[in-house]
Amino acid sequence: MIDGTHSVETADAMRPLFFISDLHLNDTIPRTVAAFEHFIEVTANGADSVFILGDLFEFWVGDDVLKPSVAGPRAAFVRRMTALMHTLSERGIALYIMHGNRDFLLGKGFMRAAGALPLPDPFVITAFGTRIVVAHGDALCTADPAYQRFRRFARNSVAQRAFLSLPLTMRLSIAERMRSNSEAGRMRPAEAKYDVTREAVAQLFKRTDTHTMIHGHTHLPARHRETDGVRWVMPDWELDHGEPRGGYLRVDAEGIRALPLELE
Ligand code: MN
Repeated sequence: MIDGTHSVETADAMRPLFFISDLHLNDTIPRTVAAFEHFIEVTANGADSVFILGDLFEFWVGDDVLKPSVAGPRAAFVRRMTALMHTLSERGIALYIMHGNRDFLLGKGFMRAAGALPLPDPFVITAFGTRIVVAHGDALCTADPAYQRFRRFARNSVAQRAFLSLPLTMRLSIAERMRSNSEAGRMRPAEAKYDVTREAVAQLFKRTDTHTMIHGHTHLPARHRETDGVRWVMPDWELDHGEPRGGYLRVDAEGIRALPLELE
């Protein structure tokens, strides 16, 4: 499934599609969480669909955290976020969620609870007559072979089952350790090896027969004019530390636009 290309036609040709990614939600970033709540409750009204293209959560260690019997602030937080997202389908707005490199363990139980449909990576959407290939973006970072090795391991179903069979408390402490190791990662220099490669981008355009691409992951928001088409990179969301960042892409009959977050 992961490497196939798939296609959906959007339900209502008039209403816009919204794209976001890389929110890295967790219970320690209240302003970023509030911006997401505002986006789902207010901004998304009137949309045909919302597409979350990976790294919605800072980490995800298994859908069992959603069970009401699991205590603690983190479990309460993810249950609150999941219930919030479910209000989209209640309002007739479709929600599609793709895995990122942080939340690749989001499973069927989560998707059901959030009222979401899982999107394979990459995926082709036909919107307003244009075929758009969407991806998280990490698979395009082919200049970083160590990361690509980790990605293959992390997406291996045997490795995933082995991890998910550990007790929840142990999985949470492993995730916590990986997260503190990657805090330094947030400050890493913008080295070329952490960006997508021209070759991987060209190959994805070719393989999917598209000329428009949307992805996240690199936290380098831009609209790039590539040889084979236009590549939009979404921003990450960060309203709790440093310079506020965030935003979303709106796709409608007029094309694609990058818009800032509406904050209360
Ligand atoms: Mn990512």
